[in-house]
Amino acid sequence: MDIRSLLGKRVTERIKPSAITEMMILVKKHNAISLTAGEPSSDVYPADLLRESIEKALRDPGILSYYPLSTGITELREWIAEWMKEDELLPQGYGGENVIMTNGSQDGLNLVSEAFVEPGDTVLVENPTYPEALLAFGKEGANFASVPVDKDGPIVEEMEKVLSKGRVKMFYTIVNFQNPSGCVTCDERKRQILELARRYGFLIIEDDPYRYLRYEGNHEGSYIKMAQDEDMVIYLGSFSKIIAPGIRCGFMVVPSKIASQMGELVLATKLSLPAFLQRAVFELLSSLDMKAHLAHLRETYVARRNALDASLADNAVPQGMTYDLPMGGFFIWARVPWLKDCFDFAKYAVLEEHVGVVPGAAFFPDTSSADSSTLRLSFAKTPPEIAREAGLRLGRALEKYRAK
Ligand code: PMP
Repeated sequence: MDIRSLLGKRVTERIKPSAITEMMILVKKHNAISLTAGEPSSDVYPADLLRESIEKALRDPGILSYYPLSTGITELREWIAEWMKEDELLPQGYGGENVIMTNGSQDGLNLVSEAFVEPGDTVLVENPTYPEALLAFGKEGANFASVPVDKDGPIVEEMEKVLSKGRVKMFYTIVNFQNPSGCVTCDERKRQILELARRYGFLIIEDDPYRYLRYEGNHEGSYIKMAQDEDMVIYLGSFSKIIAPGIRCGFMVVPSKIASQMGELVLATKLSLPAFLQRAVFELLSSLDMKAHLAHLRETYVARRNALDASLADNAVPQGMTYDLPMGGFFIWARVPWLKDCFDFAKYAVLEEHVGVVPGAAFFPDTSSADSSTLRLSFAKTPPEIAREAGLRLGRALEKYRAK
């Protein structure tokens, strides 16, 4: 039997290999400096405290012997609701019962997608956007429409043009330090977009993993709070960027009307998240001085960003690279106007100069109009001295590639 002939369209047609993963594998194989992954290095996360929290969670003899609620353990959900309330991100009347634990934000994207997307539905996304979100929606058979972004977020006039052409089921947006462009949706744009959502009746999926990695400027509010009791928004949060991606722990905040159905969907897909992991995360969050931890992260990452910026200014900008310095997050979104094939260049840079970047064209929902002169450079994993070397190598790679 050819087992492949039995595969469904989700796998044969709708899911494609991830350009980010492919680059990460190539970088590892060639032992190159990595500007690829949007993940922190092991010196940044609270490793000791995490180990102690896991040990403490496992000391409870009952912790491994039951199936926890599919929505998540109560104390963790309540901690998250309180934390969001303190930050003025939650609407009135929302609490722990609106929080559903996920296996990271990606799981949240998948659950939202399974709950809402029917084949042929249109999902509006930012252009460029996070490609793995496209996979999550695409695997359920979504069609994509896109809206360009500037430094203040999605361009509302462009959005209206798309909306006037046909029904959009939901809008997926990365509100802070967008992956990959680094843009932040300002509250005024959010107000305008909420108005459009009311008028055209679409749901907003607010993905916010980078919120706490702001290095400059003031925090913006959230769509979910601004929408109050209108049930127009689902918020996705994650501990991947502020604790560690390896714990695979995130959450979504959903309107009360759909909370139990979302819980049932979790049950149908994975029963629940591990109880010991949730307990460990709760222990960690209860004992961590979160403000001090976030301040440490910001201090670390801003130094990395600045070192990469300085090195790019010396080495890559003279080769034609341009970019706006992001005020937070992990990524510098760069353009090299003469570059015609960023996929080819990204491979070349690894093989010739041992530096890995992600080809920017992978972030465009419509491959036929993707900008092939773009590159995404992550400074998350590179301490300043390595960031300087990375910029040097990238500059050299551009110079040699151009002269080829
Ligand atoms: N959304 C965005 C915008 C991301 O950049 C990422 C991680 N790269 C995710 C979701 C997935 O994160 P998690 O580890 O929480 O699944």
